[in-house]
Amino acid sequence: MAAYDFKAHRLFMEADLRPGEPLALDRAAANYLLNVLRLGAGDSVLVFNGRDGEWRATLEPDGRKSAGLRPAEQVRAQTRAPDLLYLFAPLKHARLDYLVQKAVEMGAGTIAPVLTRRTVASRVNGDRMRANAVEAAEQCGILSVPAVLAEQRLEAALDALEPERVLVFCDEDAAVADPVAALAAIGPGRPLALLVGPEGGFAPEERERLLARPETVRISLGPRILRADTASVAALALIGPTAGDWL
Ligand code: SAH
Repeated sequence: MAAYDFKAHRLFMEADLRPGEPLALDRAAANYLLNVLRLGAGDSVLVFNGRDGEWRATLEPDGRKSAGLRPAEQVRAQTRAPDLLYLFAPLKHARLDYLVQKAVEMGAGTIAPVLTRRTVASRVNGDRMRANAVEAAEQCGILSVPAVLAEQRLEAALDALEPERVLVFCDEDAAVADPVAALAAIGPGRPLALLVGPEGGFAPEERERLLARPETVRISLGPRILRADTASVAALALIGPTAGDWL
């Protein structure tokens, strides 16, 4: 990561990346590279698709409105997303955009909206969440865009959790205690899940179910009630260096 070229523009593409095989850019991407960034023929862009690593590609404009990219050389090999399933009660619009972008930047591997008793949003726009995940991945230099799952009920999400996956449960009702010690006790390399609840908090029966699950680590994020988007960033910042992929 140290030798990483932060100045080059990074673009996520769905297509396979192979040396010399041209990639067609859609109108919006072509317009952005040609008319916003003002790149021209032969300029370099970094491309990744989540499967084939990162490639340096050269721009081949075709007029002012369309362009292609030709991958020249692979500059980084493909890496895997962190094994961190991020479960959260979806928020409305702008705050949901923020929540998804920040979760990707902070190391979530899979984005999983869950509907709880007190969740306000009942439908979530998966395409919009995916677009936010791609944008964050382009921006923060990672090579695998976290998968965005369809929304599911909390109970179903808990039923689907593998028994060995450690669930970090952020609970504003937990006694304020050192979350770093609790997370460090998990140890490195374990499959992880993080759960952050809705603005209205968890219902008593949800909390009961969560606390009955083995391999659940309930943490407090301090003596103040945080908004869900803040709680997510705070929790991910604590998980990274204690039990996550910073280790
Ligand atoms: N029940 C609260 C607000 C919930 S805040 C109320 O209505 O007063 C939204 C979510 O953020 C919570 O479900 C929890 O997962 C997380 N959260 C907020 N503050 C927290 C804290 N101090 N410790 C742990 N988790 C917290």
